[in-house]
Amino acid sequence: MQTQRLRIAIQKKGRLSKECQELLKKCGVKFNIMGERLVVHSLNMPIDLLLVRDDDIPGLIMDGVVDLGFIGENELEEVRLDRKALGEPCEFVPLRRLDFGGCRLSIAIDKDEEYNGPQDLAGKRIATTYPQLLKAYMDQQGVPFSTCMLTGSVEVAPRAGLADAIADLVSTGATLEANGLKEAEIIFKSKATLIQRTGEFDADKVALIEKLLTRMQGVQQAKE
Ligand code: ATP
Ligand code: ZN
Repeated sequence: MQTQRLRIAIQKKGRLSKECQELLKKCGVKFNIMGERLVVHSLNMPIDLLLVRDDDIPGLIMDGVVDLGFIGENELEEVRLDRKALGEPCEFVPLRRLDFGGCRLSIAIDKDEEYNGPQDLAGKRIATTYPQLLKAYMDQQGVPFSTCMLTGSVEVAPRAGLADAIADLVSTGATLEANGLKEAEIIFKSKATLIQRTGEFDADKVALIEKLLTRMQGVQQAKE
């Protein structure tokens, strides 16, 4: 179902939401986010913001339900690999890599454990929220492993006896340290990114997207 208004998906609440909202405002998009609303209409442009969980954003783009989405590359790539494996639509158009949301997906192990390289992970059980990214990395290294899917509290899995190691998002490393873990391998480096659905767009939407991208470039350059 196509709409006249440009639909942009952003994370409702979390590490990307504030910066996405600020970026849109700096690009001249006026809106007021209030309460628990899923859709927020811009006050000055034909734009609707969809406030959703970040996990849902890649699928909304790949299914063509929204036009643009702001998402962490880690989540985007995880969903893309998952959908690809299932034979589901997994296409999107990358528009712009952004200068926030930086983090890395890393494998971490007990801080006292000796580590000499990926082969030391052979046969280990690794807890993660990103099984596809983990599998892609381990297959590339040729190291057999087993996994344990956790959508939260991944960093406590080794201590809780659920796994031997973890693959989790790291920015400063403080969480790992607080849980007696050390970073062993970086498997994916991520930033927030702006993506577009594939398929046709009418001329008005194309012009609006171009306007937003030009302004975004200006905002980013002004920061440098
Ligand atoms: P949601 O409720 O929307 O599913 P979430 O808990 O999955 O939220 P957040 O923790 O808000 O997600 O993280 C969103 C994104 O922010 C991550 O996917 C990642 O791209 C980015 N990010 C940046 N730094 C970090 C970090 N230190 N830890 C986790 N994510 C980070
Ligand atoms: Zn999420």
